[in-house]
Amino acid sequence: MRAFILTHGHEDHIGALPYVLPRVNAPVYGTKLTIGLLKRKLEEHRLLKKVSLHVVEPGPKKVKLGPFQVEWVRTNHSIPDGCGIAIHTPLGIIYHSGDFKIDPTPIDGRVADLCRLGRLGTEGVLAMIVDATNAERAGYTPSEKVVGEALERVFATTRGRLIIATFASNIHRLQQIITAAHRYGRKVAVAGRSMRNNIVVAEELGYLDVPKGIIVELDEMNSLPDDRVVLITTGSQGEPMAALTLIANGEHRQVQIKPGDTVVISATPIPGNERVVGRTIDNLFRRGAQVIYGQQVHVSGHASQEELKLMLNLVRPHYAIPFHGEYRHLNAFKQVAMEVGIPEERVIVPELGERLELAREGIVRRKKVQAGPVLIDGLGIGDVGNIVLRDRQTLAENGVLVVVVVMEKQTGKFISGPDIVTRGFVYVRESEHILEEAKKRATVELEAIEKRNITEWSLIKSRLKNVLTDYFYEATGRRPIILPIIIEI
Ligand SMILES: [Zn+2]
Ligand SMILES: [Zn+2]
Repeated sequence: MRAFILTHGHEDHIGALPYVLPRVNAPVYGTKLTIGLLKRKLEEHRLLKKVSLHVVEPGPKKVKLGPFQVEWVRTNHSIPDGCGIAIHTPLGIIYHSGDFKIDPTPIDGRVADLCRLGRLGTEGVLAMIVDATNAERAGYTPSEKVVGEALERVFATTRGRLIIATFASNIHRLQQIITAAHRYGRKVAVAGRSMRNNIVVAEELGYLDVPKGIIVELDEMNSLPDDRVVLITTGSQGEPMAALTLIANGEHRQVQIKPGDTVVISATPIPGNERVVGRTIDNLFRRGAQVIYGQQVHVSGHASQEELKLMLNLVRPHYAIPFHGEYRHLNAFKQVAMEVGIPEERVIVPELGERLELAREGIVRRKKVQAGPVLIDGLGIGDVGNIVLRDRQTLAENGVLVVVVVMEKQTGKFISGPDIVTRGFVYVRESEHILEEAKKRATVELEAIEKRNITEWSLIKSRLKNVLTDYFYEATGRRPIILPIIIEI
């Protein structure tokens, strides 16, 4: 393994590194902000000293990694310093687009290096791996500037407190909020750890211009007049422990919603989060806030169809390979690529985990490797599998029930029990009759076991479990986790 080469600093592109690097320690290359954000993470995991990090500049200077020459090409995205990566290999150039859009008026003035992309196309690109997230969307993704204009209108017309939730990594969005706050004479308070962290890193590295004295602590915010503050917060995806969710639920220690507040959710839900985001919005309305959300105060960071076409026409790759998105997005990309004249057989839509090998003869699809999410639980990485998760789900939904019996060692007779203890299954005081009946059935089963001289514990346990599972399903329609315990004395 030569190196990790990073396109940008989003969580889905750097978040796994603190878990991967201890196992595969290779040097990491990325642009300044990307490495800055990663540094912060590695610090938290106490790994910083063990890893070699390299900051690269987008532009013509290439990094040599074994037989490869690697070059970062500036693009635009919902985080500054996003790049595509051109890998010059002995077989030809492979261009990885990174997550990108083409924003002709980016907040930091750094437009995508379309010139270089065009020249790569002239040099000849063997394969391009392309961000297909928005391949279903027609037209162009609007410029980040559009959100600034919408936010300006909100600042201009809001008299009360203003609370704005967005992605902590969207530094340009934060910049637009801070700039507007400055212009409209509001102080800025920040809620949420990742938001505070990112603001510190981005300001330190020169990606965020924060006027002196504009940031105030949350406590200070509460003593300022309502029309003099804006609160920037995490939780735009309805994450259960994030600041906006706590605020919406009335559980935040320092911030309570009151009538007259305006809440802007400057993000759209990532697929799968619609319901929890909806609940947050409902709860904010319930507490009397005005809530502004949706397309009017957010733009995507990913290229729509026309930008994909532009990219394909500039780079003119021999093979086009979509990534980033569900299968339907990858498939939509295929249609777009075919529209600009790439023959169907040269648009490769891989399955998750499938390996593609570029050889002189062309592209070879190799057998899948195991791929997909690895769950992190406490100190364990990937040790919580399907069975554990299924148990947890059953525990959460149906509760647990423990049956204890005491067996005499010499005779194999049951001398005490069955006793039943439950948690999260039924409310014991109202369900005594159910538990009594369960005890009766367990006793009958134990008598039958004794009669047949069954002494093998696993068999006794499974028989008890079966009898109780059947009974509880019949009586309650639920299937709690049943744990039989035999004590031998
Ligand atoms: Zn991204
Ligand atoms: Zn991404």
